Amino acid sequence: MQIFRCPGCDAELFFDNGFCPCGLAVGYDPNSERFATDQRFCANRASLGCNWTCAADETLCASCQMTSVHPDLSMAENTPLWAKAEAAKRHVLVGLMRWGWFSADDPGARPEFHMLAEQTASGTADVTMGHASGLVTINLAEADTSERVRRREMLGEPYRTLIGHFRHEIAHFLFERLCERDGFLSAFRAMFGDETRDYGAALAEHYQNGPPPGWQNAHVTPYAAAHPHEDWAETAAHAMHLCDITDSFLAAGLGKADAPGPDFDAYRATDPVALIDAALAIGVALNHVNRAVGQPDIYPFVNSDETRKKLGFVLHWLSEKSKQRG
Ligand SMILES: [Zn+2]
Ligand SMILES: [Zn+2]
Ligand SMILES: [Zn+2]
Repeated sequence: MQIFRCPGCDAELFFDNGFCPCGLAVGYDPNSERFATDQRFCANRASLGCNWTCAADETLCASCQMTSVHPDLSMAENTPLWAKAEAAKRHVLVGLMRWGWFSADDPGARPEFHMLAEQTASGTADVTMGHASGLVTINLAEADTSERVRRREMLGEPYRTLIGHFRHEIAHFLFERLCERDGFLSAFRAMFGDETRDYGAALAEHYQNGPPPGWQNAHVTPYAAAHPHEDWAETAAHAMHLCDITDSFLAAGLGKADAPGPDFDAYRATDPVALIDAALAIGVALNHVNRAVGQPDIYPFVNSDETRKKLGFVLHWLSEKSKQRG
């Protein structure tokens, strides 16, 4: 993520800021990738804290427009959970827009989001997180930090965040869009295997018996070993994490002997495997920093030669549009 500037006083702004310390109300304009004061703010600004701007003839920003179903707002706790999920979605979308996905000049399909809470006026609902034919369902229970940590520990995962969920589910959607490109599917199958094999049976097997021994040799997580579709989504989420870690590290002006220089744009990297290697080294360095104050590792994973190749493959295909844009 980049560090932005207030258009009024030039102070540094975080991506989530709606106001500058100078008092100016600011909004993020996804078209110019800058903060603005002279544009229409998204209609979800007051209710959900959305800080994006929208076109003069529209009421919702490009991110909020992708949400077609919201939780039951008669339950007071659901609005703040929805707001947190929308903030994570904006963070994920802005990285994808750097690659050209869902930007103003991308004529392709957008994912549609159903943001559902388990608590409804008519009782507790079952909500399964997932992607199907362009529709992404997000379970807002995971926007509650203590609930998400409870699930993470129950599942024995080292890392579980809303941003991670969005990256994983949107990756499934991007897979469908990439299948329209010449050469993608055959290259995918050569590296990840046959994604047409029985998905339901593969998931049932995973939940019954866990990952096969030695899953670490070829998969970023145990779940990635369940099926080629999940391998793609897990690997793509990690590739997005690593690109964002590098982008944020350089935007903050930090340096490291084996990291690229300050003018390097992680979203336009021409050598994806070199970017992955640099990002992994930055991740380890930041793990040391986090441990200084007892925070969990920022990137608590070890990657094999095989997973680094897969990460490079994903980055190559995700970033192909940004290179075409010149
Ligand atoms: Zn300012
Ligand atoms: Zn919005
Ligand atoms: Zn999945």
